[in-house]
Amino acid sequence: MDLAFEDFLQRLERVRAEIAAACDAAGRDPASVAVLPVTKNHPPAAVEYAVRAGLPSVGENRVQEARDKRAALADCPVRWELIGHLQTNKAKLAVGLFDRIQSVDRVKLIHALERHAADAGRRLPILLQVNAGDDPAKHGCTLQEAPALTETILDCPHLKLEGLMTIAPLSDDPDLARRTFENLRSCREALQERFDIALPELSMGMSGDLREAVAAGSTMVRIGTALYGARRYT
Ligand SMILES: *Cc1c(COP(=O)(O)O)cnc(C)c1O
Repeated sequence: MDLAFEDFLQRLERVRAEIAAACDAAGRDPASVAVLPVTKNHPPAAVEYAVRAGLPSVGENRVQEARDKRAALADCPVRWELIGHLQTNKAKLAVGLFDRIQSVDRVKLIHALERHAADAGRRLPILLQVNAGDDPAKHGCTLQEAPALTETILDCPHLKLEGLMTIAPLSDDPDLARRTFENLRSCREALQERFDIALPELSMGMSGDLREAVAAGSTMVRIGTALYGARRYT
């Protein structure tokens, strides 16, 4: 990560301006959209930048990488959110590391998280990940599976369902992203009504499609590239 803190602050300001413009167009309050800096594939300094800028949480997509970073940043006052696919055999480790898991998408994982959260004596905040763009390359349950999985989660006393998460299909077509995000919002509304629950969080939108996400009601955009630059994969 070849980025000075001042440059990071400038990038953050640009992201916030883009959110504000999208909120303006949609008649929304910019304070209703949080920025989750995505620090995956970046060194621990990326997390420190976020904290220094006053951001409360970071997103990581791999359990081991987050574990190493947490160890390198002992006592860093930040909330860790898992946004990447979680294998069931890593559920226990994830429960010990993350403040919230956004990538919950199947019964087996729900039951594993419930068991490990109970063992740890905590109630784990989670989001249900829905493949609202019906993209074969993405994880997440289908829109049709969402009600049954919600029911399963609501039967788990150690899980706290706070909302939904989606990733739009990789595409140059902003309409596809818009439809995906509108699908997620409708899904949220249907679940709220059917189960008489509040699902306040809609985690949707990344660097390339945050406008469409904010227009459709996103409460949290997950931003990597626009804040930290291109990731180097090794
Ligand atoms: C990497 C990642 C992001 C951030 O993507 P950018 O395009 O770099 O902003 C957001 N959400 C998830 C689930 C990711 O894996």
